[in-house]
Amino acid sequence: MRTTMHSEGYVLIYLPEHPRAHNGYVYQHIVEWEKANGQPLPEGWTVHHRNEIKTDNRPENLEAMSRPDHVRHHMTPEKAREMQRKTVDARKQNGSYAHELRSHCKYGHPLVAGNVGPAPGRKRARRCLTCHRERERKRREDRRKND
Ligand SMILES: [Zn+2]
Ligand SMILES: [Zn+2]
Repeated sequence: MRTTMHSEGYVLIYLPEHPRAHNGYVYQHIVEWEKANGQPLPEGWTVHHRNEIKTDNRPENLEAMSRPDHVRHHMTPEKAREMQRKTVDARKQNGSYAHELRSHCKYGHPLVAGNVGPAPGRKRARRCLTCHRERERKRREDRRKND
Protein backbone atom coordinates (compact mmCIF):
# COMPACT_ATOMS: atom_id res chain seq x y z
CA MET A 1 0.00 0.00 0.00
CA ARG A 2 1.46 3.35 -1.05
CA THR A 3 1.65 5.82 1.82
CA THR A 4 3.17 9.25 2.30
CA MET A 5 3.53 11.74 5.14
CA HIS A 6 1.22 14.72 5.46
CA SER A 7 2.92 18.02 6.34
CA GLU A 8 1.15 18.00 9.71
CA GLY A 9 2.50 14.58 10.64
CA TYR A 10 -0.39 12.37 9.55
CA VAL A 11 -0.04 9.32 7.32
CA LEU A 12 -1.74 9.52 3.92
CA ILE A 13 -2.56 6.45 1.89
CA TYR A 14 -3.04 6.25 -1.85
CA LEU A 15 -6.71 5.45 -2.42
CA PRO A 16 -7.98 7.55 -5.34
CA GLU A 17 -11.45 5.95 -5.35
CA HIS A 18 -12.12 7.09 -1.75
CA PRO A 19 -14.69 9.92 -1.55
CA ARG A 20 -12.38 11.94 0.72
CA ALA A 21 -9.31 11.53 -1.51
CA HIS A 22 -7.32 14.65 -2.38
CA ASN A 23 -4.95 14.13 -5.29
CA GLY A 24 -5.51 10.40 -4.76
CA TYR A 25 -4.55 10.40 -1.07
CA VAL A 26 -6.70 10.00 2.05
CA TYR A 27 -5.81 10.21 5.74
CA GLN A 28 -4.96 6.70 6.85
CA HIS A 29 -6.68 7.20 10.22
CA ILE A 30 -9.97 7.90 8.42
CA VAL A 31 -9.63 4.79 6.26
CA GLU A 32 -8.72 2.66 9.29
CA TRP A 33 -11.63 4.02 11.34
CA GLU A 34 -14.04 3.34 8.46
CA LYS A 35 -12.70 -0.20 8.08
CA ALA A 36 -13.00 -0.91 11.82
CA ASN A 37 -16.51 0.57 12.05
CA GLY A 38 -17.87 -0.65 8.73
CA GLN A 39 -19.24 2.75 7.74
CA PRO A 40 -18.04 5.97 6.17
CA LEU A 41 -16.97 8.73 8.55
CA PRO A 42 -19.97 11.08 8.86
CA GLU A 43 -19.80 14.47 7.13
CA GLY A 44 -18.26 17.11 9.42
CA TRP A 45 -16.64 14.50 11.68
CA THR A 46 -12.99 13.92 12.29
CA VAL A 47 -10.93 11.04 13.70
CA HIS A 48 -9.00 11.72 16.90
CA HIS A 49 -5.88 9.86 18.00
CA ARG A 50 -6.45 8.85 21.62
CA ASN A 51 -2.75 8.76 22.50
CA GLU A 52 -2.09 11.94 20.45
CA ILE A 53 0.39 10.05 18.26
CA LYS A 54 -0.71 11.02 14.76
CA THR A 55 0.91 8.02 13.09
CA ASP A 56 -0.61 5.45 15.47
CA ASN A 57 -3.57 4.34 13.37
CA ARG A 58 -4.55 1.16 15.22
CA PRO A 59 -8.35 1.03 15.46
CA GLU A 60 -8.25 1.14 19.28
CA ASN A 61 -6.37 4.44 19.09
CA LEU A 62 -8.95 6.06 16.82
CA GLU A 63 -12.09 7.82 17.93
CA ALA A 64 -14.57 9.67 15.70
CA MET A 65 -15.76 13.07 16.97
CA SER A 66 -17.66 15.97 15.54
CA ARG A 67 -15.31 18.84 14.71
CA PRO A 68 -16.48 21.16 17.55
CA ASP A 69 -16.10 18.28 20.03
CA HIS A 70 -12.64 17.61 18.70
CA VAL A 71 -11.58 21.25 19.09
CA ARG A 72 -12.94 21.24 22.66
CA HIS A 73 -11.15 17.98 23.33
CA HIS A 74 -7.80 19.52 22.43
CA MET A 75 -8.50 22.77 24.26
CA THR A 76 -6.39 22.96 27.41
CA PRO A 77 -7.04 25.72 29.98
CA GLU A 78 -3.78 27.37 28.85
CA LYS A 79 -4.88 27.39 25.21
CA ALA A 80 -8.28 28.77 26.16
CA ARG A 81 -6.65 31.59 28.13
CA GLU A 82 -4.28 32.34 25.25
CA MET A 83 -7.18 32.64 22.79
CA GLN A 84 -9.10 34.88 25.18
CA ARG A 85 -6.05 37.12 25.54
CA LYS A 86 -5.68 37.42 21.76
CA THR A 87 -9.30 38.45 21.34
CA VAL A 88 -8.98 41.12 24.03
CA ASP A 89 -5.75 42.42 22.45
CA ALA A 90 -7.35 42.62 19.04
CA ARG A 91 -10.23 44.56 20.51
CA LYS A 92 -7.86 46.99 22.23
CA GLN A 93 -5.94 47.51 19.01
CA ASN A 94 -9.05 48.25 16.99
CA GLY A 95 -10.15 50.64 19.68
CA SER A 96 -13.67 50.98 20.88
CA TYR A 97 -14.65 53.03 17.84
CA ALA A 98 -13.99 50.24 15.39
CA HIS A 99 -17.60 50.40 14.27
CA GLU A 100 -17.00 54.00 13.14
CA LEU A 101 -13.95 53.10 11.09
CA ARG A 102 -15.35 50.13 9.26
CA SER A 103 -15.36 50.54 5.50
CA HIS A 104 -17.71 47.63 4.84
CA CYS A 105 -20.56 46.02 6.71
CA LYS A 106 -20.21 42.38 7.71
CA TYR A 107 -21.88 41.36 4.45
CA GLY A 108 -19.37 43.33 2.41
CA HIS A 109 -21.52 46.32 1.40
CA PRO A 110 -19.40 49.49 1.25
CA LEU A 111 -20.23 51.92 4.06
CA VAL A 112 -20.18 55.07 1.95
CA ALA A 113 -22.43 58.12 1.88
CA GLY A 114 -25.86 57.05 0.74
CA ASN A 115 -25.51 53.59 2.21
CA VAL A 116 -25.02 54.48 5.87
CA GLY A 117 -27.54 55.67 8.35
CA PRO A 118 -27.65 56.11 12.10
CA ALA A 119 -28.48 53.01 14.10
CA PRO A 120 -31.39 53.82 16.39
CA GLY A 121 -30.51 53.48 20.06
CA ARG A 122 -26.76 53.30 19.46
CA LYS A 123 -25.32 56.81 19.32
CA ARG A 124 -22.02 56.18 17.61
CA ALA A 125 -22.98 53.19 15.47
CA ARG A 126 -23.63 53.44 11.77
CA ARG A 127 -25.69 50.90 9.98
CA CYS A 128 -25.63 49.57 6.45
CA LEU A 129 -28.79 50.66 4.64
CA THR A 130 -28.56 47.87 2.07
CA CYS A 131 -28.74 45.33 4.89
CA HIS A 132 -31.42 47.35 6.62
CA ARG A 133 -33.60 47.39 3.49
CA GLU A 134 -32.97 43.67 3.00
CA ARG A 135 -34.09 42.96 6.56
CA GLU A 136 -37.21 45.08 6.12
CA ARG A 137 -38.07 43.25 2.90
CA LYS A 138 -37.63 39.87 4.61
CA ARG A 139 -39.82 40.96 7.50
CA ARG A 140 -42.58 41.98 5.07
CA GLU A 141 -42.24 38.67 3.26
CA ASP A 142 -42.46 36.68 6.47
CA ARG A 143 -45.53 38.61 7.51
CA ARG A 144 -47.15 37.81 4.19
CA LYS A 145 -46.36 34.11 4.63
CA ASN A 146 -47.93 34.04 8.08
CA ASP A 147 -51.17 35.61 6.84
ZN1 LIG B 1 -7.39 14.83 18.15
ZN1 LIG C 1 -24.69 45.49 4.39
